[in-house]
Amino acid sequence: MDNVDNTELYKKLAEACGASNVKKNAPLSRCTTFKVGGPADLLVNAGNAETLKAALETAAGAGAPFYVIGRGSNLVFDDAGFKGVVIRLCDGEKRGAAGPELIEEDEEGALVYAYGGTALSAVASFACDRGLTGLEFASGIPGTVGGGVLMNAGAYGGELCQCVVKSNYIEIVKDEVNGTGTVREGALEGEAQGFSYRHSAYQDNGFIVTGAYFRLKKGRSKMDITAEMRELNRRRREKQPLELPSAGSAFKRPPGDFAGRLIEASGLKGFAVGGAQVSEKHAGFIVNRGGATAADIRALVDAVRERVFADSGVMLEPEIRFVGERG
Ligand SMILES: Cc1cc2nc3c(=O)[nH]c(=O)nc-3n(C[C@H](O)[C@H](O)[C@H](O)COP(=O)(O)OP(=O)(O)OC[C@H]3O[C@@H](n4cnc5c(N)ncnc54)[C@H](O)[C@@H]3O)c2cc1C
Repeated sequence: MDNVDNTELYKKLAEACGASNVKKNAPLSRCTTFKVGGPADLLVNAGNAETLKAALETAAGAGAPFYVIGRGSNLVFDDAGFKGVVIRLCDGEKRGAAGPELIEEDEEGALVYAYGGTALSAVASFACDRGLTGLEFASGIPGTVGGGVLMNAGAYGGELCQCVVKSNYIEIVKDEVNGTGTVREGALEGEAQGFSYRHSAYQDNGFIVTGAYFRLKKGRSKMDITAEMRELNRRRREKQPLELPSAGSAFKRPPGDFAGRLIEASGLKGFAVGGAQVSEKHAGFIVNRGGATAADIRALVDAVRERVFADSGVMLEPEIRFVGERG
């Protein structure tokens, strides 16, 4: 961090968030499912809304660069790491926060709230246990509520936008003169969340999702919900290279086609740059076959896009997000 004293900032974060939640020189390869990325100057584990707010207030108040993550299941950090503070929303229950909460219920359904760091799978299980349907598709998506809302995560015909009716956020209000910022809390409801395919308003406004409300329905037995979740997860294991580190589908689905089909048609299944490889099992995935660097993954993504464009005229858009050492 160029203009920020790391030692001083560490002390402030430790005081505001609890020393056990703040790490120096934390390897980001341990915070992402791809298992690549150099160290973050500072890492804060925010297991509940209060710690998250305190971390954001402190980092923004000091004018330090920061980047918010969930489970890192859609991310590639630079090999040089991140020059600033990485704030990780992590599973609340292990760190003293409440799990998903039943806010209201009637004969038709219920409203469930979950902290942004809660695993999507935990919200899906919570719903299943109460006979609430609508999140079966999400039980195998390895992200958090916050990352899921930002990405409008989806699978097997379901998308979070179908049940997320409202999301709470923190916005950083910048002071352009001295480069610092203060936090402001708010909420977006319904269409204001700007959902479309793998997109939400949060990708444009830069707000941090602190939690979301899920509107779920009754009318399906717990046994049926469980059976569907098991079946979808069986299909995942069968089709996807879950045995190797990755960030899921590397590319968004192009209109009227599938990225995996186009990549395979270009003869790129198994094609590799260093330790990064187009999966042999599913060409839509890029996997870390061992020792991959962020540079390998980026070079492979570029090579795949170029070749597919030359062969089919389709320019694939990456779904995975690359984060440079300065954000
Ligand atoms: C094996 C595998 C299978 C996958 N299958 C699917 C699938 O079926 N469908 C699907 O949609 N995705 C899938 N993914 C991708 C990934 O799980 C989703 O994109 C998920 O929503 C990312 O959540 P995350 O918490 O890991 O976010 P991260 O990867 O940590 O972050 C992703 C982006 O969200 C931002 N972000 C994270 N938390 C917040 C927050 N609270 N507020 C604001 N911004 C935030 C980050 O800054 C980053 O830009 C898969 C990934 C893997 C590894």
